[in-house]
Amino acid sequence: MAKRIAVVVSQGQSQNPAKRGLEEEIVAALLMEPGVDVTVIPHLYDLKPDGTGMLALQGIKGNLIVLSWLYERGGRWILDRNDIRGHAGQMLIHMDDEEEDEDLDSAADDKLRVIDQRELPNRRIYCVDLRVHKTAQPYVDEIKRIAAENSQEIVQLGDWIQGDPDPAQLKRFANPTNTTALGERGNGSDAAADAFDQQATTAEQDATAQVVRIEEGGNRRWYPVIDYSRCTNCMECIDFCLFGVYGVDKIETILVEQPDNCRKGCPACSRVCPENAIIFPQHKTPAIAGAPVGAASLKIDLSKLFGAPEEGKSAEEIAALERDEQLLLAGREAVGMTVGIRKRQEGKPAAPKDALDDLIDALDELDI
Ligand code: SF4
Ligand code: SF4
Repeated sequence: MAKRIAVVVSQGQSQNPAKRGLEEEIVAALLMEPGVDVTVIPHLYDLKPDGTGMLALQGIKGNLIVLSWLYERGGRWILDRNDIRGHAGQMLIHMDDEEEDEDLDSAADDKLRVIDQRELPNRRIYCVDLRVHKTAQPYVDEIKRIAAENSQEIVQLGDWIQGDPDPAQLKRFANPTNTTALGERGNGSDAAADAFDQQATTAEQDATAQVVRIEEGGNRRWYPVIDYSRCTNCMECIDFCLFGVYGVDKIETILVEQPDNCRKGCPACSRVCPENAIIFPQHKTPAIAGAPVGAASLKIDLSKLFGAPEEGKSAEEIAALERDEQLLLAGREAVGMTVGIRKRQEGKPAAPKDALDDLIDALDELDI
């Protein structure tokens, strides 16, 4: 009994023929694949939170493969912000130094990350960067591999249910009358609901792909995306941004609350986040756009990746300049380094004391 898997193809922002060609080649190849449903959406980053595209993605409840012109981290955390959550599926298609990044993460310190405090639905979401290969075949092969794994999961679920229950039994299990049995998707009841769906629609399961195409008008967007596998909820970003982009949820977790308040082209807060957890998926600098940061480059100096070393300034100084530029463009006053720059400064050696510091020290000693 095969379970269908959803494949989402997120189109590039431009009408670039090479990109469109690759997208369509993948869709065409999947048309003949049993058990695969394909949804083509406009660029994932540009989708409106309440638009048709995002609603369609939210409606997909099982394992999900998303192919986009974004780094894997960018894709994953855009989905997460829109309540499309699950465990990160392991892909065999990677940017070159992605494995180093994983090694690095696993060897990282024991700080508590936001992701450690969250329950994720029992599903997997695979995000694939369409820039890794120029031809469709590697993507199609990878989708087939994941679809086969997906199908295997259902066999295991069938084993767990023991035997071959009749649909009425499964339906009762999937829709229990006692509320304590109800859970979020991914708990037992939802898994059983999936099983019921499987049983009830067997005739459709081996059908070849259904392709849904979603059109959605709207402009290109620009906003930060938080990688909660890195974020420690330190609140540096909310202190730094003076445009009201960040907020906190009911349990005081940082979130991007007003994404469209972000100033187009400004990546300033990504430079001051101590954990490099803030992604601007469309920024030209790969480290800011969510590229895997290889161990070698991290050993050099992460702040340089996020800053602009050629100008001889620190990442924080660049961030303050970028923020000032946006403040001035918005008709407000520049604030320089006086507001919201803390943690990355804390680790640095103190500047040499000046005459004012000496005077304050002397007054402290007098204790008056
Ligand atoms: S500054 Fe970075 S680590 Fe701190 S709350 Fe913001 S995103 Fe999370
Ligand atoms: S990039 Fe600038 S405007 Fe946008 S959230 Fe960060 S600090 Fe605020």
